[in-house]
Amino acid sequence: NMSSAPTISAPECLFHPMDFPQKILMGPGPSNAPPRVLGASALPLLGHLHPEFTQIMDEVKQGIQYAFQTQNEWTFAISGTGHAAMEAAVANLLETGEVALVCENGIWGQRFADMVERNGCVAQKLTLPMGQVFSLQQIEEGLKTHKPVMMFITHGESSGGTAQPLEGIGALCRKYNCLLVVDSVAAMGGVPLFMDKQEIDCLYSGSQKVLGAPPGTAPISFSQRARKKVETRSSKVRSYYFDANELANYWGCDAGPRRYHHTGPISSIYALREGLARLAEVGLAESWANHKECSEQLHQGVEQLGLSLLVKDKAVRNPCVTPIMVPQGVAWKDVADYAMKNYRVEISGGLGELAGKVWRIGVMGYNCTPDKIRLVLRAFSEGLVNCGYKPP
Ligand code: PMP
Repeated sequence: NMSSAPTISAPECLFHPMDFPQKILMGPGPSNAPPRVLGASALPLLGHLHPEFTQIMDEVKQGIQYAFQTQNEWTFAISGTGHAAMEAAVANLLETGEVALVCENGIWGQRFADMVERNGCVAQKLTLPMGQVFSLQQIEEGLKTHKPVMMFITHGESSGGTAQPLEGIGALCRKYNCLLVVDSVAAMGGVPLFMDKQEIDCLYSGSQKVLGAPPGTAPISFSQRARKKVETRSSKVRSYYFDANELANYWGCDAGPRRYHHTGPISSIYALREGLARLAEVGLAESWANHKECSEQLHQGVEQLGLSLLVKDKAVRNPCVTPIMVPQGVAWKDVADYAMKNYRVEISGGLGELAGKVWRIGVMGYNCTPDKIRLVLRAFSEGLVNCGYKPP
């Protein structure tokens, strides 16, 4: 006698409203979203192929072309977080057995190499300790030795806190007939970046950092060379969802009518559009300058406390994420907990080898203002004193 009544009852927790503290997100991401972005994500839904929505997609595309400084036709947003864009780069640009050279100076190189191998390809690594950046000589050696079809490098390292100088790398990759993939999830909008001039073949970023939009969309662009590789592969792209041929069509980047590939995340695209609009209004040059100034204010404040930064060379510090060395005798978590409890300010810990050894403070987009820096410095320094830190 099968009853049609559900036997598992509705969870009690769903009958209460969500608990919503307002927090100042000064970790490596997500960063706070400005009201116009949050407001956009609350707008009514449109169909994913309605003309009003494809118009918004076109605006997003143009916003990404501006943010990336590129004229590439194949420019759109992946429906997924930064990791999804990483997967898309690997899936589209490599065929089984091909060799990628992966520059690893933090967890992003590690993860990218992992994805390369999961796709049945070979990851050859150039490795540096976190906090250091690659020289053109090191890169050229790697290209000569491994003869890769693709090279990966992280622009803004959020685990090691570096901003990799990109000048000259694209030219080297061309010389050795290799595609250049750059991860600028944690730098785009905060650090000068010129996709076309720097001859980057595949560039991706994320919505949740400088753009100040919710996590869930990832801007990406493919150069003509990269596009050619995708269009002339001998095997199909292994991932249906990330197939750039299909995505480019859905994003109106080819002559054909847009086909249904997947249902675009409507509300997230609205939010991304507003994040890009804000960046356009602030202006890239102004945004780069703001991130530099605010991060320097943070660095000075931290050094005045007698602490040191992981990245010694000022010229290669990523203004978006600053790792700070945890001094002897201080438990990093206690300080972060203090800042959260007393100021609702998020300060994060280290990742990978730096877990427990650094704090990381993020300065991105909507939070990139002198008052937010003063606030995080205050929460941090008070936390330090309360956790037994004695300045030298
Ligand atoms: N690359 C870098 C440099 C990042 O900082 C991040 C996010 N911390 C990612 C990739 C992955 O992004 P997501 O967490 O949004 O998937």
